Amino acid sequence: LSRRVPQPPGEDEIAQLARTANETLDRLEQAVSRQRQFASDASHELRTPIAGLRANLEDAAMYPDDTDLREVMRSALRDTDRLESIVTDLLLLARIGTGGSAAQEVVDLSELTRAELERRPFLLKIESDLADGVHVRGVRMQLVRLLNNLLDNADRYADTRVRVTVTAEGDHAVLRVADDGAGIAAEDRERVFERFTRLDSARSRGAGGTGLGLAIAREIAHAHGGTLTIEDVPRGASFAFRIPLITDEPA
Ligand code: ADP
Repeated sequence: LSRRVPQPPGEDEIAQLARTANETLDRLEQAVSRQRQFASDASHELRTPIAGLRANLEDAAMYPDDTDLREVMRSALRDTDRLESIVTDLLLLARIGTGGSAAQEVVDLSELTRAELERRPFLLKIESDLADGVHVRGVRMQLVRLLNNLLDNADRYADTRVRVTVTAEGDHAVLRVADDGAGIAAEDRERVFERFTRLDSARSRGAGGTGLGLAIAREIAHAHGGTLTIEDVPRGASFAFRIPLITDEPA
């Protein structure tokens, strides 16, 4: 969006057209940025009352001797947890890509992936193949988030195992998370990246996600000049994150 039409000198029709196009782009950019600011402010404001609600419910859930009442409180607490996750994810979504390049650092993608695989617990068997020396430029925390959103899904939807690889392909680094579950039909492969899309809502909701995981992951990929796609594989789902490789020695 930040690109502009080159402005030719003079006042002929082409020059005027270029000026109008650029002014329109300016206005569009401002509108997008206001929209992001609104989403960010709104989710930020919502966090405080939700935190209050949760604290009250936690207190209240301790008192009643009445089992039914306690069950009601627990259920209200679960809803509060959900609400909190959604609002946190919306806030994150609004903020991705607004930090500029200042927050970027050189990241060893294999090292980052290895650290996450060691840190987090999995329900299923994890296989990994992580190439050495795959360096990219990015916001480490966001790349960790992208990876974790893919791992959450893989762990949730796989039948028995998840495979994670990091490779260099041409001038790009590729991080793949593949599982052996039911996969995603070709006609749904773009839809799942939209906010709040769930293919199998009963199953997905029961699994506790917010429906924002893939939207966030793709937004992070794009903010890094990369892509996140679903590959055509014979079995299960395979997500590929591509990001430009740093070819020089990292500073
Ligand atoms: P959720 O919080 O529901 O997981 P996501 O944005 O992460 O939200 O995913 C959106 C939907 O895409 C999921 O509800 C699910 O239907 C589908 N999906 C995501 N990952 C996979 C996968 N590895 N295998 C099959 N379906 C998947």
